[in-house]
Order: sequence, then C-alpha cells, then structure tokens
Amino acid sequence: LFITFEGGDGAGKSTQAERLGAWLEQRGHETVRTREPGGTALGASLRELLLHGSDVAPRAEALLYAADRAQHVAEVVRPALARGAVVVQDRYIDSSLAYQGAGRPLDPAEVRGLSEWASGGLWPALTVLLDVSPELAAERRSAAGAAADRLEREAAEFHRRVRDGFLALANAEPERFLVLDAALPIEELHAAIAARVEPLLG
Ligand code: C5P
Repeated sequence: LFITFEGGDGAGKSTQAERLGAWLEQRGHETVRTREPGGTALGASLRELLLHGSDVAPRAEALLYAADRAQHVAEVVRPALARGAVVVQDRYIDSSLAYQGAGRPLDPAEVRGLSEWASGGLWPALTVLLDVSPELAAERRSAAGAAADRLEREAAEFHRRVRDGFLALANAEPERFLVLDAALPIEELHAAIAARVEPLLG
C-alpha cells in the first residue's frame, strides 16, 4: 500500500506522516517512512542542489526532481511495496505537478509525462492533501524559526499557484485524494487520516 502526503510548506505533512506511520506499526504493518526529495543517497545530493544551490532553470529543476524520483522509486518504494510494506511518503508526483507544473512556467502535461516516466507509472493508492493557507504557512515557518530555503523565498503569487494546483489535482481525482484543512488540530487530522486508511489495509 502506497500513501503520499502533499501540501505546501508548513502544512504539517511530516507530523501527520509520522503519526500515521506509528499507527500502522502499532497494528503490525511493516511501514516505510520516506520522502522526496532526498530519500536516497543520490537524492540527498540532489536535494542539496535543489534547495540550497544557485539558480536552477525551470526545466533543469523539473529534471532534477524527476531524477530524485526515479532513484527513490527504484531503490526504496518499489522494493518496499514488493515485500508487502506500507510506504508512507512526504511528497511525490503531485508536488511536481503543483510546484513545477502549476508554479513554474512549464507545460503541466509535460511535467506529468516526465514524472510518469521517472516513476515507471507508479501512483499512490491514497494521497492526503493538507491544504494550508499562505498566512498559516508563513506563521508556522516563522514560529519554527526556520531559515528560508530557495523555494520559501518565492513570491506569494508562486505559492498561490502551487496551492491552487494541488486543489485542482484533488478535484480531478477525488477517489485518490483526501483533502483536509491543515489548520485543524493534529489529533483531529490524524483521526480522519486513519479512518480513511483503515479500509485500505488488507
Ligand atoms: O517538503 P520538503 O520541505 O522536504 O520540501 C522541500 C522543498 O522542495 C519545499 O520547499 C518544496 O516547496 C520544494 N519542492 C518543489 N518541487 C517538488 C518537490 C518539492 O519545489 N516537486
């Protein structure tokens, strides 16, 4: 079973992915918690280039995320799924569709084609979209005192396109997506996510 978490920075994806992972482990399911970009040794180098490197042209950026994904799917995700583990992952193809496809001046259909090529057409059974308003995202970032990475310094307009991009993806595939308001309390979100995952477990 392959489950992904998506949403803007500060949405609380890692917190919920961790809570879900612990819940699955408690129930005896082998669970692999992982993320993109950076879920492999090659990916860690690519993540460094993407987030802290110098300017990256939009097409180069899309290719680097695709390279990270190709490696991660081959090295981590497919082997885990093949042995029957549940994979709980921060970010996947939908992030590319929202950030590169909707945020950058790239053709969304081309970004989708690239992602499908990189992953060999592997899609998650469930994608949890934690929808976060720009205001809440900014609030959480400054509360965390986090240094802004290259993406976080992007204009508000870019983040608006990304958010709208995620919501459009969820609208187009309501059976794959669970959309939740990232402003809800942690426990409430976890309960909603667990309720949606439960029937997917064999
Ligand atoms: O979620 P995480 O903090 O690991 O994401 C790292 C950064 O990469 C985020 O700022 C996110 O906006 C960006 N990103 C992106 N395109 C992707 C995936 C992540 O711009 N396809």
